[in-house]
Amino acid sequence: MEPFKFTRANDQHSAISSMGGNGVKVIAGGTNLIDLMKLDIEKPSQLVDINNLKLQTIETLPNGGMRIGALVKNSDLAYHPDVITKYLVLSEALLSGASPQLRNMATVGGNLLQRTRCPYFYNEGFPCNKKNPGSGCSAIDGYNRNNAILGTSAQCIATHPSDMCVAMAALGAVIHVQGIKGTRAIPFNEFHLLPGNTPHRENTLRQDELIIAVELPPISYAGRSHYLKVRDRSSYEFALASAAVALNFDNGRIKEARVAFGGIGTKPWRAILAEKVLTGAIASEQTYRTAAEAALSEAKSYKHNAFKIELAKRTLVRALTTVGGMS
Ligand SMILES: Cc1cc2nc3c(=O)[nH]c(=O)nc-3n(C[C@H](O)[C@H](O)[C@H](O)COP(=O)(O)OP(=O)(O)OC[C@H]3O[C@@H](n4cnc5c(N)ncnc54)[C@H](O)[C@@H]3O)c2cc1C
Ligand code: SF4
Repeated sequence: MEPFKFTRANDQHSAISSMGGNGVKVIAGGTNLIDLMKLDIEKPSQLVDINNLKLQTIETLPNGGMRIGALVKNSDLAYHPDVITKYLVLSEALLSGASPQLRNMATVGGNLLQRTRCPYFYNEGFPCNKKNPGSGCSAIDGYNRNNAILGTSAQCIATHPSDMCVAMAALGAVIHVQGIKGTRAIPFNEFHLLPGNTPHRENTLRQDELIIAVELPPISYAGRSHYLKVRDRSSYEFALASAAVALNFDNGRIKEARVAFGGIGTKPWRAILAEKVLTGAIASEQTYRTAAEAALSEAKSYKHNAFKIELAKRTLVRALTTVGGMS
């Protein structure tokens, strides 16, 4: 680990005014950043501890939605009674991630910005465009069983590792940030970037911007929702494929649907094509399978991860069956 300056911010203004310079990073729970610093993948010249900022609250909004402070711990969010009642999919996604100890430290802001688990990204000896732009991608022709099948590019095929983000993508959350020039509200789908030719650029946050909160819109039916995560072992493991779903029924037909995938995309993957198939259809195995086929129609697999295409389809069908049953 390289030497760095450590400061503590006591309010948002002082945090933001110290963030503008190159090499400055904020630290929240530290569960991802410290690991990356120990491996010399992240080398900040200054760390700004933001844990004293007043961003730990979870509020119900007048419109029925929720506002979640960026420093709310993953476990506090997962066990909040209103989250369990109104956004079950989010609670389930959070509880499927990491371990109880990690969830007690990890924050909402840090979870949004956690970095990929591609093994070559962590291994110093291998070229990696995300770590060293222009050096090449070791995963494309290497061991790529855990890599992505949606949103990949010729420069990077790394999956986005978060579970929480998959639920937030399905729910259409909005990320509120504040920087030197003021505040911005970023729709969830516009926050994370596809790798394209610049896989080292992972999101649309600017250097001086702090994540302040995430807002969930009111979705009357999001209590009827589910997060299903399939992985190599039943806990303390990242997803091979996961699905977040919420369904609204009217007279036996699906009136509205929200679907997102994890473990298979280079960013948390809202499956708009699946939502289109489901909307207006009768809940049946055939409907769910057609939705899954549509969702994976643009998937591109690599040498070791072709199994993920069928796995993701089955994961979605099972999640939809759990929420909607079958006629
Ligand atoms: C062994 C292990 C297993 C795990 N398993 C899973 C899993 O199964 N599923 C899953 O989803 N996750 C998993 N995780 C990842 C874990 O969820 C993340 O490490 C955690 O959410 C990061 O939050 P943090 O507060 O600790 O972030 P930090 O490590 O403090 O920060 C991460 C990044 O976010 C930035 N940041 C933090 N807060 C803000 C803010 N408010 N504004 C701007 N920038 C900010 C930091 O500068 C840093 O770049 C695992 C982690 C470990 C170590
Ligand atoms: S997939 Fe991305 S993170 Fe993995 S080696 Fe290739 S460039 Fe690096």
